[in-house]
Amino acid sequence: MPTPRDIDRHDTDILILGTGGAGLFGALHALQSAPEGTRVTIAVKGLIGKCGCTRMVQGGYNVALGGGDTVERHFMDTIQGGKWLPDQDMAWRLCEKAVERIHELENELGCFFDRNPDGTLHQKAFAGQTADRTVHKADLTGIEIINRLMEQVLARPVEKLQDHRAVGLIPTRDGAALAGVLMIDMRTGRFRLVRAKTVLMATGGGPTMYKYHTPSGDKTMDGLAMALRAGLPLRDMEMVQFHPTGLLAGDHTRMTGTVLEEGLRGAGGQLINHAGQRFMFDYDGKGERATRDVVSRGIYAEMRKNNNPQQEGVFISMAHLGPDWVAQKFAGMVKRCADCGFDLAGGKVEVVPTAHYFMGGVVVDVDTRTALEGLYVAGEDAGGAHGSNRLGGNGVANSTVFGGIAGDVMGADIRAMGALREPDPDALEAELARACHPLTRTPGLVQPLRKQLQEVMWDEVGVMRTAAGLRRGLAGIAEVSDALMEVGVASESLAFNLTWHDWLNLRSLCDISEVIARAALARDNSRGAHYREDFPETGAMEDSWFTVARQSGGAVTVDRAPVQFTIVRPGETILPEDAPETLVAAQ
Ligand SMILES: Cc1cc2nc3c(=O)[nH]c(=O)nc-3n(C[C@H](O)[C@H](O)[C@H](O)COP(=O)(O)OP(=O)(O)OC[C@H]3O[C@@H](n4cnc5c(N)ncnc54)[C@H](O)[C@@H]3O)c2cc1C
Repeated sequence: MPTPRDIDRHDTDILILGTGGAGLFGALHALQSAPEGTRVTIAVKGLIGKCGCTRMVQGGYNVALGGGDTVERHFMDTIQGGKWLPDQDMAWRLCEKAVERIHELENELGCFFDRNPDGTLHQKAFAGQTADRTVHKADLTGIEIINRLMEQVLARPVEKLQDHRAVGLIPTRDGAALAGVLMIDMRTGRFRLVRAKTVLMATGGGPTMYKYHTPSGDKTMDGLAMALRAGLPLRDMEMVQFHPTGLLAGDHTRMTGTVLEEGLRGAGGQLINHAGQRFMFDYDGKGERATRDVVSRGIYAEMRKNNNPQQEGVFISMAHLGPDWVAQKFAGMVKRCADCGFDLAGGKVEVVPTAHYFMGGVVVDVDTRTALEGLYVAGEDAGGAHGSNRLGGNGVANSTVFGGIAGDVMGADIRAMGALREPDPDALEAELARACHPLTRTPGLVQPLRKQLQEVMWDEVGVMRTAAGLRRGLAGIAEVSDALMEVGVASESLAFNLTWHDWLNLRSLCDISEVIARAALARDNSRGAHYREDFPETGAMEDSWFTVARQSGGAVTVDRAPVQFTIVRPGETILPEDAPETLVAAQ
């Protein structure tokens, strides 16, 4: 069993956890803003450029680039889409800086995005938006972005700790600041403590505790679980976004749950139930172009009506748009469906809502600073920008915008920071013991417990919720959590011991699942992604509040904090009086 004396040490100035859009932008900007000679280290659970969800971005990147669209319009769509819960200063920052970031992606990093015949960037329609503002590279936008980012980072003097999993934030003895991060070098199984003056947490959330989910397998809420244990406040934790159209291809394939992008519905794709009827207009006047939360609930309701385990989902149909056009416009999607035996261009494909994105996260300010000195959070780990609902296309904009800001701010902040801080030995020992816990128990099976958690979360803490269901959910989560503590992992070799990492993944998922369920129980109204069948009303927009969860003495508490309408009040707009309601022809 490893002891604190067995921990390898590594010192740096700026440490970045995660290499998605937020982490890689953080690294590049930190190098630009920090004094010369500053050591920048990136640590990632997988391989640089090969893990996380930024690589998986299909549809594209929201940015207002003229043609009638403005930052103000993007902002209003973001606030209204988030049902007045977003932190307005963060949302403004997101929309404003996205313009700068897209030019940086094109002109400094060398991304190629699709263009119009006149040479301007092509922007497509995404649901819930009043302008065609989604910049893209066909439907494989993330690969373009992450490959160019990766090339730039690999070419620069950044220390790289790949296959390094962060397991605990280690504060100073007085708890006032962060001293470093405890990690496992997954290649050897040895522990490593990395001390740093500033740490960017960009581990990308990832609601993979649901039966159907889209994020990459390396994402298991580790960052939020670490932040929770460190006593940091987490906001909007009930807000899990379900993407309406996850592929349903059977239990035998991990393609089940993967997303069929929003652009399909934006382009005119239709949703058909098992009776062969188009149903979305029964739920919303915008039909398939309603926001994700609304469409997910429509599909879920149809699934319940059908109640046939052999035919669980509904169908997306594109054929009326012309199979050749669909095959050209959505080449990636068509191929993915074909790989699973479905004809997206000419037939119909069975789909189901799938857990996609996590709006909740660590409470940060607009500069990505947190309540713990030295810790910064950006990307999907940070809460606030989206409120109760993220617009399609705002996710990768969020991670690249705030990742870059974090890099700028950390580089500037370390100028005023003195020596590296000393970690609290007790906190270090506690995190070490926690990570080693399964090595002290008789080996057992982790996967059945993960499956059990996924079923509980889907059934009781999913698309539609009730108090009774959430209480059942909490009991189910506790059952999995307790059982996990008794399941051991063989410890003869810790090098690439994937069962150990599965155990640690499930530990993080259980901890955050409990917070999601408690926050969902605390929100006795329905906003955006959070829908309570027993409280279907939204509550007064003027009195909007968000949940703030904390862990103290092992117990999770959830409080309310009022939304500050710093830019616009509910019912008002910052658009000019004569501005059209929408610029999208089909809406
Ligand atoms: C299939 C799919 C399609 C999407 N399409 C779109 C789209 O079209 N438009 C859009 O705006 N958004 C889209 N999104 C959302 C978007 O991908 C995310 O919002 C965004 O990329 C998150 O960026 P990030 O940097 O926060 O996290 P990620 O890019 O997910 O990166 C997280 C990083 O943290 C690492 N990590 C995790 N845990 C640890 C740990 N314990 N220690 C060390 N490293 C760790 C991971 O390995 C990874 O490198 C999509 C998401 C999915 C899953």
